[in-house]
Amino acid sequence: MTDEGSATQTAPVALGTPLTTAIGERQAAAFARAFGHRTVGDLLTHYPRRYAHRGELTALAELPAGEDVTIVAEVKKCGTRPMRQRRGSILEVAISDGTGLITLTFFNQAWRANELVPGRRGIFAGKVNRYKGSLQLTHPDYELFDDTAGNGSSIPAPSTPDFEAWQSQPIPIYPASGTLPSWKIARVVREVLPHLAQVADPVPRDVASEHGLEEFGAALRGIHMPTNDADWRRARDTLRYQEAFVLQAALLQERERLRATAATARMPVPDGYAARLDAHLPFELTADQEAVGEQIEHDLAQPVPMNRLVQGEVGSGKTVVALRAMLQVADNGGQSAFLAPTEVLASQHLRSIVASLGPDLAAELMPTLLTGRLTASERKKAMLRAVSGQAQIVVGTHALLGDAVSFFDLGLVVVDEQHRFGVEQRDVLRGKAATPPHQLVLTATPIPRTVAMTVFGDLDVSTIAQLPAGRQKIESFVVPLAEHPRWENRIWERASEEIAAGHQVFVVCPAISAKEAEDDAGELIDDADDAPSATPVASVEQTLAAVQANPLLAGKRVAALHGRLPADEKDAVMRAFAAGALDLIVATTVIEVGVDVPNASAMIVLDADRFGVSQLHQLRGRVGRGGVPGLCLFVTTAEAGSLARERVDAVAATLDGFELAEADLELRREGDVLGSNQSGGRSSLRLLRVARDGAVIEQARADAAAVLEHDPVLHEHPALASAIADRLTDRSRDFLARA
Ligand code: ADP
Ligand code: MG
Repeated sequence: MTDEGSATQTAPVALGTPLTTAIGERQAAAFARAFGHRTVGDLLTHYPRRYAHRGELTALAELPAGEDVTIVAEVKKCGTRPMRQRRGSILEVAISDGTGLITLTFFNQAWRANELVPGRRGIFAGKVNRYKGSLQLTHPDYELFDDTAGNGSSIPAPSTPDFEAWQSQPIPIYPASGTLPSWKIARVVREVLPHLAQVADPVPRDVASEHGLEEFGAALRGIHMPTNDADWRRARDTLRYQEAFVLQAALLQERERLRATAATARMPVPDGYAARLDAHLPFELTADQEAVGEQIEHDLAQPVPMNRLVQGEVGSGKTVVALRAMLQVADNGGQSAFLAPTEVLASQHLRSIVASLGPDLAAELMPTLLTGRLTASERKKAMLRAVSGQAQIVVGTHALLGDAVSFFDLGLVVVDEQHRFGVEQRDVLRGKAATPPHQLVLTATPIPRTVAMTVFGDLDVSTIAQLPAGRQKIESFVVPLAEHPRWENRIWERASEEIAAGHQVFVVCPAISAKEAEDDAGELIDDADDAPSATPVASVEQTLAAVQANPLLAGKRVAALHGRLPADEKDAVMRAFAAGALDLIVATTVIEVGVDVPNASAMIVLDADRFGVSQLHQLRGRVGRGGVPGLCLFVTTAEAGSLARERVDAVAATLDGFELAEADLELRREGDVLGSNQSGGRSSLRLLRVARDGAVIEQARADAAAVLEHDPVLHEHPALASAIADRLTDRSRDFLARA
């Protein structure tokens, strides 16, 4: 508390002012560590994610498990007890709305007992979970009313107008961290805002007033310090539009820049590598594969960079389409880089590319693997092959993005499973080519139009809708253990039946070890909150032990597969499973994408509610790939009607990836399709949600296009130009921070 007072300063601050200047070294360091904030602008664009009201007492009886809630309640009881398994203590606080009770749990934070004393009222925010039959919030954010109310003044007397205003004043709830809870962020923001000088608005005034939007500075005050709900709503509309506008202006400028660059045309060569591949493929291409193949063939032959997304169901045969493109480039002496999201996938792609090419083509094209797991000398060899041009195809993971990796003539970048890579990473790879390379993005997660428009600006989209002939149908079931705990046994019965029929079974768990399951539970969900959930989740280790001890599965060949195994062991397990030498593997999502075992018939996902919609869909795609029908069991203890359960139900209800993509967007409330899940870093989009804000995005795009048409280099719009520049530095900074 002491450093706050001393950091207060009266000189005006601008958005570009370093936080150290505005709030002092110590607090600035905390914000930098927690959120990567460096400037006043970073802090002030850390917007509240919702608002609560002191007057609303929350009906505790109706709290839905698994949801983010904000509760106004009173502390009833408070006590600490030692943890059973580990060192440390648990602070348990019972709070009440006058009728029901809910427990707050804090691990190793006994000091909170000093402020969470019975009788005090406050606001508590967190994700509700059910633990041993009762509701609890683990590590909630909270703000106690009497010493942090508004500007620190005390509560007005009941039934006065002041009291009513106090009750209805929205309390901003910020995305918080363990070290910086919401109320503390609010306090710092309240301290800085009054000193904010006039801010330049990236949205031209005439555009803003046409849409009835506020000025930037007013909107910043409205979103952080609203006096009523209308204030923050207006502010949010303004700031959301601003985000869309800056983003679209940036994308449009980028598009113009790309269009103005030349790429090397790679013409199809009769009797070249591509033609030789076609001649010995063991199957007929589907009509969709042919059609998409022709589009790509045409694009590659143009002197401008291809920028194409191929979307197609899991198993629709995207890889062979990409391989043909790589060969067309090779026919012209160009190299291709194939970027895969995981080690397992990269090596699998390499294997299947080598197999598809056959010995002769493989010897000529020298497909080469480059991942972080290679030994120093293997890596050196791979890098030599890339830079000498010897390897026409280089398959790899993030390691391909390394500074030391360069190519002789990189002509095509293929990115598999786009959702794992951010825009920045693709840009890095593109930067390794002398002229801009052609680009092909493969995804099994269909991308709604607004998302494609926002993420990629100007990407051409091709779809492979057909599955190759002989694909079997997949049946999906939710196994709701909350309602039917007895069904658990049936899961293992089904597994043993599949194995008895000569098939193989995948079992997927959210965690590797029990300890991790306890510690990190919750972090695996797309929209996981900061606080760990106290409900333990299935782990690979425990499940493997249970499977081995299960009489139904006695004598079956089982193994574990997860990211913590040494690379060669992982590879050995995967190979053994692919070769039919294992009946069942218990795995994490390392098997999620692309792993191809045609004889695998059952996919059992434990604690399925811990996974996102697209992950579940991907997992399901691992079965039904060969001659045998697929069975997918989504096992969950989430209660019917909870958001977590809805996600699982949605996936079980349809095999249609497009439908699921839409459902996914609807179900993600706070998850940002472009946010941390996309790129692993801080998103520059705060308020804009691509799923929900399609209309705003389209409007902003039209407005931005009109501005750019009259002023392509933004001479007359310096604030917009610098907002775009900031966005870019933000992005590269985020990228560098991750690299
Ligand atoms: P995905 O689109 O999920 O990446 P893959 O490219 O991995 O799908 O293809 C899945 C499997 O289908 C592979 O074993 C591949 O060899 C096979 N395959 C691809 N195209 C065809 C086709 N036209 N007919 C039969 N099998 C095919
Ligand atoms: Mg694939």
